[in-house]
Formats: sequence, structure tokens, C-alpha cells
Amino acid sequence: MAPPSKIEGLPPSAVRLIGSGQVITSVFSVVKELIENSVDAGATAIDIKLDNYGLDRIEIIDNGCGVKVEDVPFMAKRHYTSKITSTDDLLSLHSYGFRGEALASLCSVADVTITTKTKTDDLSYTYTIDKEGNVSDRKPSHLGQGTTVCARNLFATLPVRRQYYNSSQRRKDDVKRVEEVLIAYGIIKPQLRITLKHGKDLIWQKATMNDSKAVLQHVLGRQIVNSMLNITRELETPKVSLTVFIPKAGTDVKAMSRSSSDRTFLVVNNRPVHVKEFVKVLRQYYDNCHACESVRHPICYVSVTLPTQEVDVNVDPNKTTVFLQNMHEVRNLLEEILLEVYGPLENVPSWHYAESAPPAGKQ
Ligand code: ADP
Ligand code: MG
Repeated sequence: MAPPSKIEGLPPSAVRLIGSGQVITSVFSVVKELIENSVDAGATAIDIKLDNYGLDRIEIIDNGCGVKVEDVPFMAKRHYTSKITSTDDLLSLHSYGFRGEALASLCSVADVTITTKTKTDDLSYTYTIDKEGNVSDRKPSHLGQGTTVCARNLFATLPVRRQYYNSSQRRKDDVKRVEEVLIAYGIIKPQLRITLKHGKDLIWQKATMNDSKAVLQHVLGRQIVNSMLNITRELETPKVSLTVFIPKAGTDVKAMSRSSSDRTFLVVNNRPVHVKEFVKVLRQYYDNCHACESVRHPICYVSVTLPTQEVDVNVDPNKTTVFLQNMHEVRNLLEEILLEVYGPLENVPSWHYAESAPPAGKQ
């Protein structure tokens, strides 16, 4: 075995690139981070433009509050944020962002300019940001109130990743994921106007809408949504509010789920998330009650609202995994609705539905 090498600190540029590569993993993660910033900034309209599937250029234009001139030098500095000031704030999060990592990470893996103007500024400026997150240039711009982030040459500093995404299938898949995440935010924020363009092609858009149901109709079609039930249940202790749109019993879910896109919209405290416990229980009931084989993408919208201190969103860099303090109770509440709508699962012991815990040794 080779003798151990001396232990040394990595140079800051290597630390930056290693960390950034974990936050900005794909075109999808860039768009997700930037639209979260736009929503946090109170935007009511967001336009997303991609060139070469986002690898050459990703541009996100919003009409939010903009960045104040005095904050501009810090907006792309790592761990600088306007959203929280202490660890206590992590327990009462009301914004999507809180780590101050996205813009800093993006700058180290792409060439970034940010154009911004607040309500009180006379003029907008386009700032060029270097790899360290510092402003290296400033030019006046004609854009109105809001912020436009433009990232060119994504992953030029991570050639293996750039090559990985350059495969035609992966590029297309990544744009599909962008579309899906925009749909998810569209459902969560019905009032938000969104457009997604690839080159000159309009890929997806939504106008301002009144409620999540209208957005679901826009995305899934009226016929499908009209054959769904909208049910809301609440618990006092622990405090939980659960809203679902699920197909009525007997609907041919498989025919409805033919789409290759994910039509399972799971939301916790207004955040699109992946919760495998919810997916598992939904699949069980859909498989059992709809006389069809395994449903890969159960059509549904499940939105859970919980006290912020009972949700940990700081689990993975993309914030799509969440830990719930009372997962058992939330899952049971969802199962209660599914049981009511679809009837009991076949071949499941009766204690499965009992309020008490299963007999020892059975899980
Ligand atoms: P975070 O969102 O965790 O604060 P980011 O790196 O994504 O970290 O953004 C850093 C800061 O830049 C934000 O806290 C916010 O003040 C500002 N900012 C980023 N994007 C926008 C935007 N679209 N509109 C207004 N301010 C923004
Ligand atoms: Mg952010």
C-alpha cells in the first residue's frame, strides 16, 4: 500500500467547484433554483429561455422585486442570503431559498450575467459575475423592474458533466424535467404566468389562473380532472392539512397515465417534493382498485401543509427530499382518504387498517 499522503486543505477554487457541482447538477437544477428565487422575489411572471437544451444558454426573466444596488456585490457570494439570518429562522422557513448557494454555485460552473432593477431604481444594470461570485463589470440595460439571470456555457468548467448532458436523449430528458418542475410550480402558484421556450419553440406556457384545479385542467385535460375527486382533510394534533386530487374509483387510471411524464404531483408546504412513502401507498391503492397492472405514474395531486418547524427541507442539495416529523400520521391520513374512496386493499391483513400498531414482528 502507498504511504499516506500529507493531509492538506484544498485550494478555495477546488472547494468551490466541488460544492457547486453538487448544487448545480443539470439544466433542470439551474431552472429550479432560479425560478425559486423569482417566486421568493414575489414575481408574478417568469419567462424561461433555453438554447441548445440549456447547455449554451439559460435565461430566466422575472418581474419580481429586483436586487437593491447595495446588495448587488453580495448576491452571488456563497452563503449570502436575504432570506434567513440565523439557525432559528430555519425552523420557520417561508421562502424556497435559504442557503445562499445557488447563484454562487451557478457562477462557478457557467458564465453568468444578472440584470436587475428595483421599483425605486431609475435604470436597470447588467452585472457580469466572475467565477468567485464577484461583480466584474456593469452596463446599463433597458429591462424593466425585476431580475434576469443569464447563464451561458453551463459546465464548461466540468467537462465530463457537459459531455454527459450532450447526449441527445439526456438533453431532451433534462428539458422534460424542466417542463415538469415548471408545471409543479404552476400548480402550486396558480397566479404565476410562466413561459418556457427552447430556441424559438414555445415548449410550455400557462397564463394566470384562479386555482390549482384550473392549472391541473390545463396540464392534464378537463376530462381527466373532472373525473377526479378533490378532498381536503385536517388533523388538529399533530397539525396537518392534506388536499388531494385523485381519480374516482373505477376510473381507468392506466389509460389516463399513459403519458411518459410524471403526473404525480406531491407538495409539502408549497414545495414540489418526492416522498416515497406517499408514492408507495398511492400505487398500492391504484394497483388494487383500478383493475390494471402496475401504475408507474399514478395521476394525482397531493398537497400537505404542516407547521414549518416539523419539516426538514435541508436534506439534499436540490431540496426535493423532505423529512416530516409526523410522517406516520400524514401517511395514515392519506391512506384514510384512499381507503374511503377505493375500499380496502386485497390480501392485506385487517390490522393494516387498525389505528393501533401492527402485532410484534409484523411491519
Ligand atoms: P438563496 O435563494 O438561498 O438566498 P441564492 O444564491 O439563490 O440564495 O440567491 C442569493 C440572493 O440573491 C437571494 O437571497 C436574493 O436576495 C437575491 N436574489 C437571487 N435571485 C433573485 C431574484 N430573481 N430576484 C430578486 N433577488 C434575487
Ligand atoms: Mg435561491
